[in-house]
Amino acid sequence: MEIDKTKEVVLRCAIIMVGLPARGKTYMSKKLARYLNWIGYRAKVFNVGEARRQEIPTSINNADFFRADNSDAIEMRNKCAMSVLQQMLQWMKDSGPSIGIYDATNSTKARRRLILEHLMAVHNVNILFVESLCDDPDVIETNIKDVKIMSPDYENVSREQAVEDFKQRIKYYERSYEPLDIDYDKNISFLKIFNLGSKFIANKIKSHMQSRIIYYFMNISVLPRVIYITRAGETNGNMMGLVGGDDDLSDRGIQYARSLAEFIDRNNMKDIVVWSSLMRSALKTCDTLKPFVATVSRLKALNELDNGSFEGLTQEDIRCRFPEEYTLRENDKYYYRYPSGESYQDLVVRLEPIIMELEKVSNVMVVCHQAVARCLLAYLLDEPREDVPYLDVPLHTVFKLTPHAYGCKVDRISFNIPAVNNYRPKPKGLVSVTSFDESRLRRKMSYSSLTPTSTTKL
Ligand code: ATP
Repeated sequence: MEIDKTKEVVLRCAIIMVGLPARGKTYMSKKLARYLNWIGYRAKVFNVGEARRQEIPTSINNADFFRADNSDAIEMRNKCAMSVLQQMLQWMKDSGPSIGIYDATNSTKARRRLILEHLMAVHNVNILFVESLCDDPDVIETNIKDVKIMSPDYENVSREQAVEDFKQRIKYYERSYEPLDIDYDKNISFLKIFNLGSKFIANKIKSHMQSRIIYYFMNISVLPRVIYITRAGETNGNMMGLVGGDDDLSDRGIQYARSLAEFIDRNNMKDIVVWSSLMRSALKTCDTLKPFVATVSRLKALNELDNGSFEGLTQEDIRCRFPEEYTLRENDKYYYRYPSGESYQDLVVRLEPIIMELEKVSNVMVVCHQAVARCLLAYLLDEPREDVPYLDVPLHTVFKLTPHAYGCKVDRISFNIPAVNNYRPKPKGLVSVTSFDESRLRRKMSYSSLTPTSTTKL
C-alpha cells in the first residue's frame, strides 16, 4: 500500500534551558541528548555560549561583556542567541521528528517570549522549558572551579582571576534574572529543578515525550562514582563460537572470575554493589565476587540479547543455512531482530530501567554479556547507534568509567587471561539502511524500524 506522505504529521520537540550561569544547563542538555539519541530519537544540543566564543574574540569575554548596560555586548549576544535559535529551527525542519535542545541562560521573560514566538512559527512543535535553580554556594563554587574556568573564555587568565570574573558574570545575570513563574507562565509547559534535583515543579505537561524527559531529569544525579562494566568469564559456548546460549564458564572463565575477585579485594572495593544477569556464566562469575563486595543483585534485564531460533548456531551455520537472514543482519545489525528473538534496538528498550538505576547508584560493577555491555557503554560514552553492535568489548576485560562534567572517562583494564576473540568488525561497503527498501525489510518478527515514524507523537 502506498503511503500518502502529504497526510503525515511531523512532530518536533524543543527543550529550552533556563538558568543562571553554572547551574548545570549544559551538563543536563548534553546528558539529555545522549539519552534521547540512545533510546532512538534524533536529538541535538544548540549551545549559545559556544557560538558566542566562535563569533566573538575571547579576549573581550570577561564579566564586563555580560553587564546589563553594555549595549554593544548586548547586541552581539542577542544576535548570537537568535542565530543559534534559527540554526536549531532549521535543523528541526530538516530532520523530521526531532528534539532540539536550546542551551542558553534564557533568563528573562522577554527573551523567553521571543523564543516562543519563533518556535510557534514551526508547525507542531512541542515546547518544554527546563529551569535549573541552585542557591547552594558550595555547589556553585565547585561548578565554577571544576568546570567553568576551564572554558576557552579563560584561556590566558589565572585560576583566581577566572573564578572572580565568573562570579562577577553571575552577579550581572542575577540583576535581571526572572525565574519561571507559576502564575505568569501558567500556560506553558515547564519543569523547575531545585538544588540538584532535591525538588521539582512540573507545569502543563502535554506529551509522552515531555513526561519521559522529566522522568529522566528526576533520575539523574551528579554523584561522583565509578562504574565498572565487564562481560562474564569466557564460556564453553564462546569457545565454540556459538550464538547465544546459557553455558557454563570455561576453565579460563573460572580463572577470570577468581582474578576479578582479587582485583576487587586488592583495590579495596568492598563497598561496591554488583549487578549480575541471570545467565549461568554471570552468576558463576559473581559467586566468586560475593565475599569481597557489598551486595550482588540479579537482574534479568541484563541477560544477553535473545538470539531466538538461532541460539546455539555459529555465524557460519547461519550464513550457510539462512543466507537471507545473515545478509539482513550484516547490513543492519542494530535494527535486525533474530527470528523469535531480539534486536539491539529491543535490547536498548529492555535496558532503559537499568540506565535509570545506573544514574542513581554509587560505585557499581555490572557483570553482563557482549551485546548488553555494548549498549551500556554506548549510553555512557555517547556512541552513535550504528556503531553499537561493533564496539569491541573483549572477554576478561573491565571497562572502568568515571563520569565527569560533560561525559565519562574510560579506562580499559585487561586481565592477562587468554580468551577466545569472536569480535567481527563492521563489514566494509555496508548498504545504508536508508537506501534499503524498508517494506522488504520490515517483516513480521524479524525486523523493526527504529526511527520513530513521522506520526509518532513526541
Ligand atoms: P553557563 O550558563 O555558564 O554555560 P551552565 O548552567 O551550562 O553554565 P554547566 O556548564 O552545565 O553550567 O555546569 C556544569 C556543572 O554543573 C557540573 O559540574 C555539574 O556537576 C553541575 N550540575 C549538574 N546539574 C546541576 C544542577 N541541577 N544544579 C547545579 N549544578 C549542576
